[in-house]
Amino acid sequence: MALIVQKYGGTSMGSPERIRNVARRVARFQAEGHQVVVVVSAMSGETNRLIALAKEIQPIPDPRELDVIISTGEQVTIGLLAMALQEIGVAAKSYTGAQVRILTDDAFGKARILAIEEEKLRADLDAGMAIIVAGFQGVDAAGNITTLGRGGSDTTGVALAAALQADECQIYTDVDGVYTTDPRIVPEAKKLNTISFEEMFEMASLGSKVLQIRSVEFAGKYKVKLRVLSSFEDSGDGTLITVDEEQQDMEQPIISGIAFNRDEAKLTVLGAPDRPGVAYQLLGPIADANIDVDMIIQNVGHDGATDFSFTVNRSEYEKAKAVLEVVCQHIGAREIVGDNKVCKVSAVGVGMRSHPGIASQMFRVLSEEGINIRMISTSEIKISVVLDEKYLELAVRVLHKAFELDKCHNNNRPLCGCN
Ligand code: ADP
Ligand code: ASP
Ligand code: MG
Repeated sequence: MALIVQKYGGTSMGSPERIRNVARRVARFQAEGHQVVVVVSAMSGETNRLIALAKEIQPIPDPRELDVIISTGEQVTIGLLAMALQEIGVAAKSYTGAQVRILTDDAFGKARILAIEEEKLRADLDAGMAIIVAGFQGVDAAGNITTLGRGGSDTTGVALAAALQADECQIYTDVDGVYTTDPRIVPEAKKLNTISFEEMFEMASLGSKVLQIRSVEFAGKYKVKLRVLSSFEDSGDGTLITVDEEQQDMEQPIISGIAFNRDEAKLTVLGAPDRPGVAYQLLGPIADANIDVDMIIQNVGHDGATDFSFTVNRSEYEKAKAVLEVVCQHIGAREIVGDNKVCKVSAVGVGMRSHPGIASQMFRVLSEEGINIRMISTSEIKISVVLDEKYLELAVRVLHKAFELDKCHNNNRPLCGCN
């Protein structure tokens, strides 16, 4: 008997028929003698609908109240799935985040899980019940409802698996695993049978929304066995996220995947005084406003002045610009220019470590297509470029081909299913 946490995303929970389908799968695992904890998302489109509704009343929604509203989508689906299970003879009980007591900090809209009280769940599991927990939500120490950021149900799933020391955390979604890039953009993308935590972490942080980044972080930290699978297929092993050591002996492909993020915006401060502390003066207030900054570039100074560029999530562009305007007046910078029609495209692979020249190959491929690179950032296992948004699909496609990701990618990995 194993304890399995299964997480079902919005599409998998998107209609009564699909919810019945999920119930049948849960029942099957139970019938095989496993204990099952299910984490669910809201029905697809519901969280967006709730956000739009909130914005009709308050254009910049109060963060606490927004969480009260957007957490309701998952409260509906837990009840529906519990009922669907009961209808097929499986004893099931639903829990909201607050009912479990998934304790988080109080950062509304992007709260972090601090602790999970799992005793009640264990007692119900031992009594033979299937447990359904609302994804994406928790409660802070003061009892306020919090949410974990878009796609946060993945993190609820992994955090519960860690707390319950589950044997496996299965993320059921609308694709049958993690691909070399989003298969909706590049139909030739190949499914990976395994991917290392390190690579999955980069892919997620660079925009591959198949797993929320914090879920990968959690799984790596607490050694949760994590697998991505399709909720629409009954067979297939999906993609297993593995610890690097397991692959040490195998020759790594140089690039494992291409990730991208459309929701980027770029801000440039022109003519900032070139003196110690200016980066802090510019970015400190941005951090204080709880805005995450991604790439940062400071140019070589000239005539006592320097230019400074950084990227933020597009949804925070206006807020960041407003903060910068105040700071720039204060420090005497010349001008702020912004562009919220940019995107980021990244190549990820641990094999890059032992293969120099990947960056120049990437730049050559983009230049051959006439694509202008606006910003560059590299680390040991990834290269990211900021581009005009209109080039996103083209860039992803040509890079995917140039790095031969459309060929069998599992050659050097176990369980290759490609050929
Ligand atoms: P869910 O609602 O189940 O959480 P998401 O929409 O959040 O599903 O994530 C699944 C989607 O992630 C897929 O439909 C796919 O379009 C997208 N995706 C992006 N990058 C990848 C990738 N590298 N591999 C697989 N899917 C990806
Ligand atoms: N329903 C939430 C969202 O749409 C959480 C999730 O689906 O994981 O972001
Ligand atoms: Mg998701």
